[in-house]
Amino acid sequence: MDLGISGKTALVCASSKGLGRGCAEALAEAGCRLVMNARGAEALEETAAHIRATYGVEVVTVAADIVSPEGRARVLEAAEGAEILVTNAGGPPPGLWSDWDREDFIKALDANMLTPVALMQALLPGMMERGWGRVVNITSRSVKAPILALGLSNSARAGLTGFVAGTSRQVAEKGVTINNLLPGVHETDRIRQMDAHESTSTGKALAEVSAARAAGIPTRHYGQAEDFGRMCAFLCSVHARYIVGQNIVLDGGETIATI
Ligand code: NAP
Repeated sequence: MDLGISGKTALVCASSKGLGRGCAEALAEAGCRLVMNARGAEALEETAAHIRATYGVEVVTVAADIVSPEGRARVLEAAEGAEILVTNAGGPPPGLWSDWDREDFIKALDANMLTPVALMQALLPGMMERGWGRVVNITSRSVKAPILALGLSNSARAGLTGFVAGTSRQVAEKGVTINNLLPGVHETDRIRQMDAHESTSTGKALAEVSAARAAGIPTRHYGQAEDFGRMCAFLCSVHARYIVGQNIVLDGGETIATI
């Protein structure tokens, strides 16, 4: 399917690895010019070189922390006029509800709510003026059903979801859509680290830990960043113009909910 977005500029945040990279690759496959970002320059440059060589699109890289105002300003400068925005950043650490103080909440809110909000506030006016735009926020299935150890994520991402629910309805008449993608377990560095951590702390073999986690998912396997990215690219396509303010769960059916 031709997604109809060839030649458009897409800013994909936190995209040297994992789900962000999956989105960047799928948008590049659709012919988008990319602005990619991550803190670590080495992996970012490697991924950008792979994408240029594989898809033949222009890729601009900005090694910066998207959560810091200075880093974000550099990214936004490189992404001026972007028609597509994919927001993403690392997730907050796990813990117990009684563990966190105000500073911990501020950090989580900064990374997983206020940064995507600031990126949207910067790029939405241009999209609305041009009469076309797409925003996809990578959130988490924890928005739909809380993940008990991830209270900081549950809280911050719920705030972003509320912002999107209202804002998406205010910009849609200008041809701009905003939607959220809610990943469940995907085979990325983050999940590999979590499995390795559990393996070390329980003494179980890594394969056993991963198999037990997969057994709790109706598909019985982890998701892949490539598939996640293609869903993102579809939401950014010309065909998705009637999808507004939605929260799309990609979790192999793990979240038990009727709708
Ligand atoms: P990942 O494999 O660890 O990749 C994270 C990517 O983001 C890397 O490219 C990393 O590069 C970049 N990054 C992290 N913090 C950044 C920052 N402050 N500024 C710029 N770039 C940053 O993680 P992932 O699994 O793709 O997860 C992406 C998001 O989805 C996270 O918020 C995670 O909590 C959420 N999520 C993931 C899953 C899953 O199963 N994978 C499930 C639910 C939710 P640098 O480290 O070099 O900056």
